Amino acid sequence: MESGTAETSTAKTKASNGTDTATQAPDRIEVLNPASGEACGSIDVDTPETIAATVARVRTGQAEWEALGNKGRYHWLGKLRDWILDNTDQIADTMQAEGGKVRGETSTELIYLADLINFYGSKADKFIGDETVRPHSPLLASRKLKVQYRPYPVVGVISPWNFPMALALGDAIPALQAGAAVVIKPSEFTPLSLIETIRAWKEEIGAPDVFDCVMGTGETGQALIDNVDFIQFTGSDRTGRKVMARASETLTPVSLELGGKDPMIVLSDANLDRAANAAAWGGMFNSGQVCLSIERIYVEEPAYDEFVAKLTKEVGGLRQGQDGRAYSCEVGAMTSPNQIGVVEEQVDEALAAGARALTGGKRADGPGDYFEPTVLVDVDPSMKVMRDETFGPVVTVTKVRDSEEALRLANDTRYGLGASVFGERTRAESIGRRMEVGAVNVNDVIVNYVAMDVPMGGWKESGIGFRHGEYGIKKYCRPESIVITRMGGKREPNWFPYTKVRQGLVGRLAKAVNARDIRRRLGKRG
Ligand code: NAD
Repeated sequence: MESGTAETSTAKTKASNGTDTATQAPDRIEVLNPASGEACGSIDVDTPETIAATVARVRTGQAEWEALGNKGRYHWLGKLRDWILDNTDQIADTMQAEGGKVRGETSTELIYLADLINFYGSKADKFIGDETVRPHSPLLASRKLKVQYRPYPVVGVISPWNFPMALALGDAIPALQAGAAVVIKPSEFTPLSLIETIRAWKEEIGAPDVFDCVMGTGETGQALIDNVDFIQFTGSDRTGRKVMARASETLTPVSLELGGKDPMIVLSDANLDRAANAAAWGGMFNSGQVCLSIERIYVEEPAYDEFVAKLTKEVGGLRQGQDGRAYSCEVGAMTSPNQIGVVEEQVDEALAAGARALTGGKRADGPGDYFEPTVLVDVDPSMKVMRDETFGPVVTVTKVRDSEEALRLANDTRYGLGASVFGERTRAESIGRRMEVGAVNVNDVIVNYVAMDVPMGGWKESGIGFRHGEYGIKKYCRPESIVITRMGGKREPNWFPYTKVRQGLVGRLAKAVNARDIRRRLGKRG
């Protein structure tokens, strides 16, 4: 299909309670800037028919795309990288408008994408090139064994609103590099920067017609699942369950990158300045709307008071608002109107139950969907803010007796995405190794996401599958084993006809090869 339009619209449909940033019309969704409530564009919603037609169209071009090989595909993806690098300001303007982000947080996404294209482009031969395998058994010595990795023809990517470029394109890039055609369904709240990118792929870059997007809400996502051969989903665990259920109807494989409730442990021998600054950034980056956000902090007793004072000072000094191209704010708006409601409810409930906000603690005054950067103490594990994903600019701090208590509390969650441990390196690493998560950062936060050499994904209810590293491209491929018999007579000993002599020979050979003691090798009992 032709993707939705990113034109500026003057017909605002903001709800009277002032919280909606996207409203569903039968065939059109208006996109509103969450920082101002102003309309910044609109999209035409796809129908099941246009979704099926889009997938069918890119499917037609896929074989030729696959035939280009890793180098040929990197050529086109490299042009996409160059387009991103040449148009950073224009893309960042759109991302700020649709997502309410501050400037510094748009460039991070674009730098990541350029790096990702280069990473998979240069490693594809190593990760998904043909493998030659030595047969494990002498009985197969005359066979040559190879594995080739063939892509799922069409990969569907369903992405959330918190990083509209990094997550949508970030999962599409390795799929395209693997030789698949890709159709993305971005979040209905933040579709505009992706629309610009797809337009550039087709019109400015003139790349092969194997990459497109479809527009709409959950129904569009469901229809996409029905039409593609593999689904890469990023979003909440609630929606992830629905995606998996729908995909099961067509036995379509899924990879699910879901939510988190990431803990950070601060040991008494940590560099407390670094730990506090990391907690502030790790908790407030992108207004806390990061799957790997630091949400729960456990601090050993001797370090607690000093750490809390430093953290409160750092968070209390953050500048919140819209900064255009000025890089003059650290914390932007909450992108989704539902999410600011979730944050408010969790914080209100915690405060009513005895928690204290050392800074922040409520929605910010004025226009736009802003929640104040917040540090909560005196929390307890039964509170929602400690159990459920907050996905907002809120961190909780809990004093613990020792590292064992910290570890027990940190692991006591249904999520298992990421974690951080701050302290003397060897001790911090040994504690990190016992955390039940997909990735641990020692003396750092969130940095594993850009260390794309290693896998990134969730344990427990934080997901199924991984992105990044070798796995992040191989998952889009199906291994095809090729077994070549280099020479042979008219028939193999195990083929028809069965005779006592031939079967006896097969049996003796099998014993000689499989037995691990000399008597059995010679056909005797042990
Ligand atoms: P969401 O689950 O509400 O929506 C994600 C996407 O799914 C959107 O495009 C949405 O339109 C679509 N969708 C909704 N219902 C659907 C359905 N029934 N079938 C198919 N698609 C459907 O998530 P969100 O609010 O956009 O994003 C926030 C969540 O994403 C948080 O939980 C966050 O932790 C998670 N997230 C995870 C990662 C990760 O890598 N693990 C990264 C970023 C965000």
